[in-house]
Amino acid sequence: MIPNMAKDANSVVVVGGGVVGLASAYYLAKAGRQVTVVERDSTLLSGCSEGNAGMIVPSHFIPLAAPGVISQGMKWMLDPKSPFFLRPRLDFDLARWVWLFFRHANAGHVQRSEHLLRDIGLESRRLHVELARERGFHLEERGLLMLCQSEKGLDEEAEVAKDAIRLGLDVEIFGKDRLKDFEPGASVEALGGVWFKQDCHLSPLDFVEALRKAIVANGGTFLEEEVVGFAYEGEQVIGVKTATGTLVEGGKVVLAGGMASLELARKLGLKIPMQGGKGYSLTLKEPKKALQLCSLLKEGRVAVTPMGKTLRVAGTMEICGSDTSLSPARLQGIIESFCRFYPDFSPADFEGIEPWVGLRPCSPDGLPYLGRLSNQERVIVATGHSMMGLSLAPVTGWLVEKLVSGEASPIDLTALEPTRFG
Ligand SMILES: Cc1cc2nc3c(=O)[nH]c(=O)nc-3n(C[C@H](O)[C@H](O)[C@H](O)COP(=O)(O)OP(=O)(O)OC[C@H]3O[C@@H](n4cnc5c(N)ncnc54)[C@H](O)[C@@H]3O)c2cc1C
Repeated sequence: MIPNMAKDANSVVVVGGGVVGLASAYYLAKAGRQVTVVERDSTLLSGCSEGNAGMIVPSHFIPLAAPGVISQGMKWMLDPKSPFFLRPRLDFDLARWVWLFFRHANAGHVQRSEHLLRDIGLESRRLHVELARERGFHLEERGLLMLCQSEKGLDEEAEVAKDAIRLGLDVEIFGKDRLKDFEPGASVEALGGVWFKQDCHLSPLDFVEALRKAIVANGGTFLEEEVVGFAYEGEQVIGVKTATGTLVEGGKVVLAGGMASLELARKLGLKIPMQGGKGYSLTLKEPKKALQLCSLLKEGRVAVTPMGKTLRVAGTMEICGSDTSLSPARLQGIIESFCRFYPDFSPADFEGIEPWVGLRPCSPDGLPYLGRLSNQERVIVATGHSMMGLSLAPVTGWLVEKLVSGEASPIDLTALEPTRFG
């Protein structure tokens, strides 16, 4: 047993030291809890938090499961370089996930989710700003450009912008003439797009490092081990067991293992439908041109983020279970899309760059799983953030602290119930 880790009400074990686990540990430690983060890989390279695009996106108020996604996805399936792929396989978990995704990809679900996603998105942005100020990491508050190269893309994004305005977000629809204002030092090839002014960007690694330091400063500890199961007293979970046989006891356990939460939840009798949404990133250490704003390239579904002196280009969503193999064709697709929008760059600039791969923990309705388990009151699940885990990490951690302390949540979390699919 870990010494001094008595299972008193004040101690909490957080499984997973990715952005969601760290943000949870941070708010718990700050509130005076005795926190232990159990993370199997301190480099975070096997998780999803290290190489992501670093975007903080209140603009993402439309869940992944939305109208049009399925028909667009079917078209993309035929193109090996496309940004979306679902690897067909005989797998009950995949079949269940796809069936639930189909059931949620409709206008009703989008309408039911948009206010919640806006509220948690804006609250998380506020917390990111507060954290950056308090913990001293750099946060760029210049907004995000959604860049479009086709009239169809522009029309679709103008509709999204109208909805964003209806929801009270600060956006501007712009034409080609504005591109030089946004990026005076680089060429941008686009017809125009939408500027989501409240979005921000940062370096995920700086964010992770700042949280780790703050957790330690607030008395938290880290254990580099793999959690393989739970420890019980009677029927009640009282901690976790690691691969080396260590027992880490805690009054509460927060399950924040990203995609791996699936297997751990199963051990508690909970079948959370979740698929890995595989994505890649490539980081140019010395980009030819310095970009000012982060951008999403509509037609290529590629994310571009300046991070200090470097430039990160990320993309693809391959629904793939837990497979982390690389697809050279899809990596090429990301590079070609980026170079079409930013013609100062060429595919040769990416030669020799080691790609990063990560599995987004994707729920079938595009909403995170956040809440206490009804059959295990001491276990709190915080995962399933899909493409918004970095963005929503602070609000998730802040809400986890409320769930641990038993305080009423300031935000209605019913739609995020971990057991909502039974
Ligand atoms: C290409 C790409 C770009 C992205 N860009 C953005 C973006 O711009 N903005 C945004 O908000 N999101 C983005 N995302 C999504 C974001 O990266 C994820 O949603 C987020 O990282 C999920 O965080 P997490 O902490 O839940 O999971 P993870 O980052 O996967 O962390 C889980 C951690 O738990 C550990 N773990 C798992 N099981 C165990 C165990 N049994 N014992 C001990 N430790 C365990 C793992 O090692 C891992 O470190 C992107 C993702 C990809 C792939």
